[in-house]
Amino acid sequence: MFDDLTMPPADKILSLMPIFRQDSRSNKIDLGVGVYRDASGTTPIPRAVREAEKRIHTAQTTKAYVGPAGDPVFCDLIGRLVFSEAAPWERIRAIQTPGGAGALTVLAGLISLARPGAAVHVPDPTWVNHVSILEDNGLRIVTYPYLDSRTGEVDFDALLDHFSRAERGDVVLLHGCCHNPTGADPSRSQWQALAEIIAERGLVPLVDIAYQGFGDGLEDDAFVVRLLAGMVPEMLVSASCSKNFGIYRERTGAAFILATNADRADATKAQLTVRARIVYSMPPDHGAAIVRTVLEDPALAADWRAELDGMRSNILSLRQGLAASFRRFTNGSDYDFLAKNKGMFSLIGLTPGEAVMLREHHAIYIVEDGRINVAGLQASQIDTFAEAVLAVRGK
Ligand code: PMP
Repeated sequence: MFDDLTMPPADKILSLMPIFRQDSRSNKIDLGVGVYRDASGTTPIPRAVREAEKRIHTAQTTKAYVGPAGDPVFCDLIGRLVFSEAAPWERIRAIQTPGGAGALTVLAGLISLARPGAAVHVPDPTWVNHVSILEDNGLRIVTYPYLDSRTGEVDFDALLDHFSRAERGDVVLLHGCCHNPTGADPSRSQWQALAEIIAERGLVPLVDIAYQGFGDGLEDDAFVVRLLAGMVPEMLVSASCSKNFGIYRERTGAAFILATNADRADATKAQLTVRARIVYSMPPDHGAAIVRTVLEDPALAADWRAELDGMRSNILSLRQGLAASFRRFTNGSDYDFLAKNKGMFSLIGLTPGEAVMLREHHAIYIVEDGRINVAGLQASQIDTFAEAVLAVRGK
């Protein structure tokens, strides 16, 4: 049975992890995998999360099944965080999922059920797992131009042009904030124009929001989700708590659908729940219980928000430091986009060969496509990094 199976191509991000671990150079820097790191280089467990875990440990009386749709209170709390109170709640439904990846998986299954083989437009580039998950569910990938590599910002005209030619009923995947891997997000007025085209042309948005709170803050980062929810008849949203709650390995997220009316929303949620039952049966409880405990307690929620704000400002100051460092070394503004990009990622503009050189000659690990996780840097390493990038580029 297994004779015809060959090794799959290595995952470009995950395959770096063991190589980094085995690297014995003491000056090694890991800008590969997408986890937040603080000034000491660790991925912290937020204080409020630790406190919530203690409370859960003491108060929990059973580990019996929760059910395929997860905890409705968790779903409601995350829903308010993503959509705000003002959303058309009578038409929105949610299920708890194993992380954002779990949400994307059940949503892709739902799209495939509703419209087998539907076209899903994804940005080029996008998170690699988007393509894998969507294709695995029988959906047809169409890429749309996204980045203007000369400026490191969104190629808005190309994007608008692509959307204005998409077929009615096509799905368009949008990164709600902190685009992975480019860090380039549309401005508010650009989102507004895109949302108008989406609504006008009857496209169905699938918004993936995995970094809420890492860009401009919890409220601002949800701008496009909230905008679209007030403009379109149908949409899908996948949300992840991995980054903003620092609970990556607890696999916590939610899948939302917005339907044309309450009855359709109920039926769609029921189908989404069937997808969950087939794929993983039920989501794990612990992460969702943490999030619920934090958000239900005003003091814990305030502390979590403050710590999240701290993470965001750390990323921002690293970005500003990086841009300033490149400016100093190059006497130019080619890398100013690093200060404007949002969230943890940017494309530094290296070829795969140059990324390998950076690793071999400078012990700096970045993804082959040139993606860097800015949060992997410590302030003291900024100049070293900038010099190394310029050295491998021969500049
Ligand atoms: N969407 C994007 C754009 C991501 O970058 C990630 C995580 N790398 C996810 C979704 C999935 O996150 P999770 O770990 O919650 O499954």
